[in-house]
Amino acid sequence: MDYPPNQRNVVRRAYILKKPCQPKTYAFPTRDIGGPHWFSIFWFKKRDWLEYGIYKDAAFCFVCYLFKNEVEANVGGDAFVNGGFRSWNKPDRFQKHVSGLKIAHNLAYEKYVNLRDGKKKSIHLAFGNANESVQSTYKIRLKTSVSCLSYLLRQGLAFHGHRENEESLNRGNFLELLKWLKPHNEYVSNVIFENAPGNCKLTSPMIQKQIINCCAKETTKRIIEDFGDDYFDILVDESRDASQKEQLALYLRYVE
Ligand SMILES: [Zn+2]
Repeated sequence: MDYPPNQRNVVRRAYILKKPCQPKTYAFPTRDIGGPHWFSIFWFKKRDWLEYGIYKDAAFCFVCYLFKNEVEANVGGDAFVNGGFRSWNKPDRFQKHVSGLKIAHNLAYEKYVNLRDGKKKSIHLAFGNANESVQSTYKIRLKTSVSCLSYLLRQGLAFHGHRENEESLNRGNFLELLKWLKPHNEYVSNVIFENAPGNCKLTSPMIQKQIINCCAKETTKRIIEDFGDDYFDILVDESRDASQKEQLALYLRYVE
């Protein structure tokens, strides 16, 4: 849980690849608990969640360790999760951990199986695993949309047309600019419009707005980084536009 949320599944996968620590040839030490008792290797049988820690001479739950913060149910107070289980004279506790009130284990186990078998992948992982050509065509398509949008932004031009359907003679600045670009660049031509997957054309008004918002954030960030702790002045003025809406203009000035 010390890792950022988007890296946790990668870390968990690394643990899963290593598998739980089950030292089957180890000579388990004897402890006196109302008589001699020790960890039995038969307890590993059919329990792929069970781990034995040589250093602590204690047993732990591998899946609860990996997913305890991901499940709603409380696992607090369970020896397999906190500190380790050492009561070798009470082997019925193994069964208790996976049944009864402690259903947290079963929720964690479900998440473990899903991650191990590759189901319910995070978007990061899914994109990371997509084959390279899908990734590179996506990047070309995204870059093209960003370039057209930034050109329109810089020139202060409108994006949409009155009618943006394919039969329309003029589909608005953004789509017309893309269309104009198409015959001039083979790489771009191969991945946009009819050559793009239906759910990833990157041309819808919603996508345009998302990209514009990203541009705005990046621009603001760069400006703030640029003037740092220096002096600046702000000039603000308001005025009504033709539709009687108040419009506010904000100037930020600083010396480079
Ligand atoms: Zn468990």
